Amino acid sequence: MTEKLYDVVIIGSGPAGMTAAMYTARSEMKTLLLERGVPGGQMNNTAEIENYPGYGTIMGPELSMKMAEPLEGLGVENAYGFVTAIEDHGSHKKIITEDDEFLTKSLIIATGANHRKLGIPGEEEYGARGVSYCAVCDGAFFRNQEILVVGGGDSAVEEADYLTRFGKTVTIMHRRDQLRAQEIIQQRAFKNEKINFIWDSVPLEIKGDDKKVQSVLFKNTKTGEVTEKEFGGVFIYVGLDPVAEFAGNLGITDEAGWIITDDHMKTAIPGIFAVGDVRQKDFRQITTAVGDGAQAAQEAYKFVSELGE
Ligand code: FAD
Ligand code: NAP
Repeated sequence: MTEKLYDVVIIGSGPAGMTAAMYTARSEMKTLLLERGVPGGQMNNTAEIENYPGYGTIMGPELSMKMAEPLEGLGVENAYGFVTAIEDHGSHKKIITEDDEFLTKSLIIATGANHRKLGIPGEEEYGARGVSYCAVCDGAFFRNQEILVVGGGDSAVEEADYLTRFGKTVTIMHRRDQLRAQEIIQQRAFKNEKINFIWDSVPLEIKGDDKKVQSVLFKNTKTGEVTEKEFGGVFIYVGLDPVAEFAGNLGITDEAGWIITDDHMKTAIPGIFAVGDVRQKDFRQITTAVGDGAQAAQEAYKFVSELGE
């Protein structure tokens, strides 16, 4: 176990966690940022970001780097670690990773959300062989091919637009006849001549030749008609699930696993805060994640100051 006692440990270095770290470090709190992968979170899986103020349009991985760069200079300690459990011991909390343990006076959970799976035959089998959840990572593998995007939210429609750089055509399959995506994103997709829509339909099976995806079997939810259509790539964007299994025993999550906080990012446990996508909230954006991070840092500072140890 690392014997050091931190003022604050932040789990997750997406935009919420990195912002929290920037603020806690600037308050001269001894700050540890724990991350299981590379800094940036979902921004690393995002092609173009157009709604983060000050940058116009910026690629997700580039914005990740810009947020991460200043942290080291501020004295934020970074550690690689996959958090598996948290123990609350009142005035301190123990953070347990797969191969270490850390002690801290306060904790900010910023572990975000994961893409949800469809759970249909062929989805697992053809993972990395035609099925993808990340257009910016895999889009270029599907040059001049027919691409299917499943979902009707911001992710599906925005990433479909990006995928038209590569695909011969991009087809959005949505289970209703109205998209959920923001209006500006919808309108761009409707104007893009390379994007087609299949409405009121859900995929039933992703089929291939054992090597790669070749077609998708889908059902019309209104008529029940089942159709098979050829696609070389299938990108799935059907929503998010919280990443907070390690918090399951703390009694701070709702039934679906999202962490419940008040407006100050406080959970039901004093000294434990949650920020960004992992929170139970309506609007999951980089801007809202960043705002949460700043707020929680301020609250963690107050909490640790009042401990007076
Ligand atoms: P995340 O970005 O998910 O970061 C969480 C971090 O925690 C990750 O780095 C993860 O590795 C780490 N972590 C998780 N579990 C553990 C663990 N147990 N131990 C250690 N580390 C852990 N928003 C916009 O505003 N504009 C957009 O254009 C936009 N495009 C998007 C496109 C897509 C495809 C998707 C999926 C989302 C998009 N969003 C966009 C939403 C935006 O990316 C999220 O709202 C934002 O990234 C949430 O930030 P976060 O820091 O809460 O979580
Ligand atoms: P989302 O908003 O939850 O949308 C998921 C979509 O998938 C919905 O259209 C939903 O249909 C559909 N769906 C869900 N389960 C399905 C199933 N089993 N089969 C078929 N379709 C299914 O998820 P998201 O688009 O990934 O967005 C997640 C968050 O990130 C949102 O808060 C979003 O605003 C944010 N985000 C923002 C941007 C941006 O600001 N530019 C970009 C991407 C994401 P219904 O519509 O019928 O429910």
